[in-house]
Amino acid sequence: MKNQFTVIGSGLAGPLISSILATKHDCNIEIYERSEDARNDNMFSGRSINLALSNRGIKALKYAGVYDDYFKSILIPMHGRTIHAIDGKTIFQPYGNKKEHYINSVSRSEINKMLIEFAEKTKRVNFHFNMKCDKVDLPNNKIYFNGVSQKITSPIIGADGYRSVISQHISDLKNEKRDYVDIAHSYKELTINPKNNEYQMDSNSLHIWPRRDMMMIALPNIDKSFTCTLFMKQSGENSFESIKTTEALYAFFEKYFPDALHLISDIENDFFKNPTGKLIGLRCPSWNYQDKMLSIGDAAHATVPFYGQGMNASFEDCFILSQIITNNPTLSWTEIFDQFCLTRKKDGDAILDLSLDNYRVMRSDVLDEMHIKKQNLSFILNKDFPDYFIPLYTMVSFTSIPYSIAEERGKIQEKILKILIDSGVTPENYNKQKASDLISKYLSKIEYNN
Ligand code: FAD
Repeated sequence: MKNQFTVIGSGLAGPLISSILATKHDCNIEIYERSEDARNDNMFSGRSINLALSNRGIKALKYAGVYDDYFKSILIPMHGRTIHAIDGKTIFQPYGNKKEHYINSVSRSEINKMLIEFAEKTKRVNFHFNMKCDKVDLPNNKIYFNGVSQKITSPIIGADGYRSVISQHISDLKNEKRDYVDIAHSYKELTINPKNNEYQMDSNSLHIWPRRDMMMIALPNIDKSFTCTLFMKQSGENSFESIKTTEALYAFFEKYFPDALHLISDIENDFFKNPTGKLIGLRCPSWNYQDKMLSIGDAAHATVPFYGQGMNASFEDCFILSQIITNNPTLSWTEIFDQFCLTRKKDGDAILDLSLDNYRVMRSDVLDEMHIKKQNLSFILNKDFPDYFIPLYTMVSFTSIPYSIAEERGKIQEKILKILIDSGVTPENYNKQKASDLISKYLSKIEYNN
C-alpha cells in the first residue's frame, strides 16, 4: 500500500484527514495551502466568524484525538433557537428533547489553527503555505503550484473547498459535469459587541430573525460578542444591491430588524465594508479518479449553511474514509476511494437537499403555528417511540445516521405528522394508539450509534 499522500487545502478537512492518515494509517503527507499559515494570521482573533459544530464533527475530532479539554473550552453550547419577531418579542425553540441535544458555536480560525497544530505534531505531515495549486495535469503527471510544475508522486486528496482544482480535474478527466447550486441569496457578517463586558443576548442559543424571504442569525463568540449573518437576495427588492446609502441601510434595519439595529455596534462599517459572500452548493458525479485523486469536504459536496453541517460533513468524510481503510486492509487505494464515493456520495447530495430545505424552515416556517405544533408532536413521538421516530433535526445534528437515510425517514415522518394533525391530533390532545398504528405502518425500527 502506498503511504505517501499529497493533500491540497489546509482549511478544515485537509489537516484532519492528514492527521488521521498519519496516525491511524501510517502515511506521510505533504499538504499545500494557498494562504498564509492560519496560526500566523491574527486577522480573525477574537472576532472570527463562527460555525456550529455538532455530533458528526465531534465524533470525527474525537476519533482523531483532537477533541481535548482545550478544544471543549472554546465551544459555546447553543440549546435551541431564539426567534426574534419583528416587534422585538422573542421565543425560544429547543433543538431537541434531551439535555445533550445542543450544538456548539466555535471560531473557524481557532479550529483551523488547532487542526494544523495537531497535524504538525504527528511529525508525518509537512505543510507548505502560500502554495496555490493552479492546476493538475494527470495525463502528463504534473501538478502546478504558483505557476511552477512538479512531478506527481503520490495520490492527491483535494480538500480545497468548493472551487476545488482537484474536483474540477476529476470531472474533466471523466468528462462529467459538476452541478453548482446558486440560490441567488448571499450573506454578510455584522458584529454585536459585548456591553459592560457581557453578552447582549442569551449566549446559549442561536438567534434568528426570520423574515420570510430573508433572515439574520447570530452565534455567540467566546469574547462575548456575537457574529450576525444576514442572508438575503443579491439583487431586487430587499437585497444587498438595493441598499446603497446609510439612510437606506437604517431604514431597512428599522423596518425589519429594529431590535438588532440597536445591538450591532458599527452597522455602517460592517454593512458597507464587509464582503458579501455567495452561497453555493455543489454536486459532483464523481469524487475520485482511480487511485490518483480524491476530493473530500466542500470540494466534493459543498452545501449551503442552513443546517450548519458543511464542516461537520467534511469531518465525517475523514472518519468514514478512515473506517473504510481500516475495515478493508486488502483493498487497493482505487477500491478504497471507489468505496468511499459509493458509501458517501448519496449523503453528500442529501445534506445539500436538507440544507436548502432548512433555509425555508429557518427564515419562514419557524414563525408558523403549524411548525411549532409539528415540532412539539415530534418530540412526543420520539419519547414514546425512540427507536422509530427521531425528529429530522435530531437525526441530522445529534446522530450519525447517514444523511440520505435521515432525509428519507424525515419525509416519512413528515407524512405521519401531517396525517395525525389533519385528523385533529395536537400535542395537547395526543392519541398514542393512532400514532403507534401509523408508525408501525410506515417506519421501520432504526438502530444507530451516536
Ligand atoms: P474549506 O474550509 O473551504 O478549506 C479549503 C482550503 O483549501 C482553504 O484553506 C483554501 O485556502 C485552500 N485552497 C483552496 N483552493 C486552493 C488551491 N488551489 N491551492 C491550495 N489551497 C487551496 N459548516 C458547519 O458545519 N457549521 C456551520 O455553522 C457552518 N456555517 C457556515 C456559514 C457560512 C456563511 C458558510 C459560507 C459556510 C458554513 N459552513 C458551516 C460550511 C463550512 O464552512 C464548510 O463546509 C467547511 O469549511 C468545509 O471545509 P473544507 O476543508 O472542505 O473547505
